[in-house]
Amino acid sequence: MNIILLGLPGGGKGTQARFITEKFGIPQISTGDMLRDAVTNKTDLGLKAKEYMDAGKLVPDDLVIKIVEERLKRDDCKDGFILDGFPRTLLQAEALDKILTRMSKKIDYVINIDVPAEDIVKRLTSRRICKKCGNIYNLLSNPPKIDGKCDICGGELYQREDDKEETVRRRLQVYKEDTEPLIMYYKSKGVLKTIDGRKDIDDVKNLIERTISKV
Ligand code: AMP
Repeated sequence: MNIILLGLPGGGKGTQARFITEKFGIPQISTGDMLRDAVTNKTDLGLKAKEYMDAGKLVPDDLVIKIVEERLKRDDCKDGFILDGFPRTLLQAEALDKILTRMSKKIDYVINIDVPAEDIVKRLTSRRICKKCGNIYNLLSNPPKIDGKCDICGGELYQREDDKEETVRRRLQVYKEDTEPLIMYYKSKGVLKTIDGRKDIDDVKNLIERTISKV
């Protein structure tokens, strides 16, 4: 089962991708996480990507396409994968189609988690992430039991640089210009499922599970 999660940054893609990974045993491929790892490890890719990311801009297509292609070739993707945060431009979507065709694979579902942009600023600026295990919290809708600490592993929670308000607004603008056209792209291919992302986390999770259980 090969899935793409689409939707505004902060709309719940990462959280839902983790649920799908747990339930269906297929890996989450998050270009944002891969790029953040590269920045932390100061690799060539990380050094090139950092300034774009900190500014809330998209990293150039060729860099991102290359890391996704390498990742999809790994053995753990043979029974499926969830792409979270990729593709984000039409060029990336077309490149993905070519990569999958070469691998004799196709996308089964594109799940568009639909949340109004006004809700996102509130959500993103209150997002916190565990430094140790990456679990995602929201101080408003899904707070940790102990302030500043991860419920799962006790790790310290932090706020992403690009979750600060000004950068969030730039990221929303980038989404509207570059990523929103993908909704029509996948709709015309007949694989798009739009889910109301304003519902609470468990409802969204159940809706997604019901959709992909049909594959
Ligand atoms: P995310 O965690 O998915 O919101 O991604 C964080 C940042 O990483 C984005 O604001 C971009 O700078 C970069 N990024 C992640 N995925 C992509 C992509 N598919 N294309 C270009 N840049 C990306």
